[in-house]
Amino acid sequence: MKLTFLGTSAGQPTSRRNVTAQALLFDDGRMWLIDCGEATQHRVREAGLRAIRCDRILITHLHGDHCWGLPGMLMAIAIAGRTEPVQLAGPRGLARLLDGAFAPSATELPYDLQVHELDGEARGEPLPPLTTSPDSWRARPFSIRHRVPCVAWLCEEPPRPGRLRPERALALGLSDRRDFGRLQRGETVILPDGRVIRPDQVLDPPPASRRILVCGDTEDADAIIPHAQGVDLVVREATYPADQEEKARQWGHSTSAMTGTFAAALHARRLIITHFGGRHGDGPGPEQLRSEAAAACPGIPVEAAEDLGTFTIT
Ligand SMILES: [Zn+2]
Repeated sequence: MKLTFLGTSAGQPTSRRNVTAQALLFDDGRMWLIDCGEATQHRVREAGLRAIRCDRILITHLHGDHCWGLPGMLMAIAIAGRTEPVQLAGPRGLARLLDGAFAPSATELPYDLQVHELDGEARGEPLPPLTTSPDSWRARPFSIRHRVPCVAWLCEEPPRPGRLRPERALALGLSDRRDFGRLQRGETVILPDGRVIRPDQVLDPPPASRRILVCGDTEDADAIIPHAQGVDLVVREATYPADQEEKARQWGHSTSAMTGTFAAALHARRLIITHFGGRHGDGPGPEQLRSEAAAACPGIPVEAAEDLGTFTIT
């Protein structure tokens, strides 16, 4: 599983960075987008990703630099030939935003766009499972504080079975390979002599499910802390340097130090900061912001996102 940054600039693009979007890439080739700033379809193409494989688009908030690429991206998915449904979720207003683009241009999508608008406080209630891959990862929104309704998306892997140990199965008298498959799927097996073999007798304990937290713009995401302890990867903006907290809060944003402190409170395994420069001026470079964030979360690896930068989550 991989996370590719398609845009890492704040407010407006620069010559090197586009506005915000990320792609979560699953091992089976399916893709989710998290945010969809203007020209995300260009970055999807540059990254060599296949729009037709996009199952779900999760929007953090409706500021333009996080969602104004939606009409173009949805059309790119259509032109790529998709006919399976696409799930789109984000704060209330999403449907109106799209209608404003699609109605005057008489645009009809050739697939079922299932729009889920979040109303009121989001407390982690998972989105309905995807009809295209019902056993896929879950997406859970949590409200965080910004100037408009905004969420962080917690993406969670479903429980995985432990590895089957053939030597244990053979020692218990199992010889039919089809029984191995049943046990791997969590079913019990009854042997000809009447003994019942349970999966936990032949499987390793299930591996921990992976979790990725991608926050929208925010000055305060602390409400998530109890729900995402030990998360494998957290992505959060670090728009301002550590010494500009007052200015950051005035605009509903984070400093590098605020984001590092958040990662420490989560006991996250890894932090990636993003949302640099752009409309917020030249300011310090991402490397300075990275080192300031790292100083606030000792022991947690911290990286600064680059456009088309890809991170593997094992
Ligand atoms: Zn914003």
